[in-house]
Amino acid sequence: MWFLSAAPRIIRGMSDRIAGQLAGLGHLSPSRASDFKVCPQLFKFRAIDRIEVPPTVYQARGTTAHLALQRLFDLPAPHRTPETLYDLFRQAWVELKTTEFSDLFANTEAERAWGIESLEVLANYFGIEDPRAVDPIDRELDMTEEVGHMTIRGILDRMDDEERGLVITDYKTGKAPPERYALPAFFALKIYALLTRIRTGRTPVALRLMYLNGPTVYEIPINDAQLDAMERQLEALWSAIERALDEDRWPTRTGVLCDYCSYRQRCPAWEGEAALAVPALAS
Ligand code: SF4
Repeated sequence: MWFLSAAPRIIRGMSDRIAGQLAGLGHLSPSRASDFKVCPQLFKFRAIDRIEVPPTVYQARGTTAHLALQRLFDLPAPHRTPETLYDLFRQAWVELKTTEFSDLFANTEAERAWGIESLEVLANYFGIEDPRAVDPIDRELDMTEEVGHMTIRGILDRMDDEERGLVITDYKTGKAPPERYALPAFFALKIYALLTRIRTGRTPVALRLMYLNGPTVYEIPINDAQLDAMERQLEALWSAIERALDEDRWPTRTGVLCDYCSYRQRCPAWEGEAALAVPALAS
């Protein structure tokens, strides 16, 4: 989970409205920053208008699986078995269903089918690695660091200190994109790597996306030059958001993501289109 908080930079001629909106943005997730790159209108729906959409079964699976995997590593290595992970998932769901995901399922059968499918996805994790042989140095780590004039906050899934150096891992319960489209998915992890470098003075050596539904693992090397570029990219992104606010201009960018966009039915680019059932992206 990610947040990006940018202290409002009051620029010459900036109206009270813009200054107020910048201040009101508060914390944004890196996925929101990614939204802006993909489609400024999508960013507006989520970060400016803050239009809430009902939680989905995919989000419920992602949140519950993350909690279960986090707790798995609280246990001594010999206890990190598939049965334990399934139990942790069930326990986490009992906690989350009443707080974050109430009324998600129409009936018990639907919830049960979701649970069975979730455990099947979770079982794939053991095909990727043996958690008894892994000893992460951090999990669900809350990181807040200054980057330029921004304060960026992120909660890091997992960090391993391997022989080759620091490796940052992000769990995904959705399906992996085809490899040729996978690079943009590393956007948030590059920010994590940047925060890690700022905090620890160590540059991670690799970023890893672990898609349990498949399973598929993508990993890329990372270095200082890439993190310098990410720092510049974040500054440029924030300047572009400021301009969009100043001009109140939020272009739509239609593409394949529109098929998964929760706001399609209210999007100006699709005005007049018959109502569609839009599947949500899993985390
Ligand atoms: S439907 Fe497409 S164009 Fe409209 S906000 Fe969503 S991603 Fe952007």
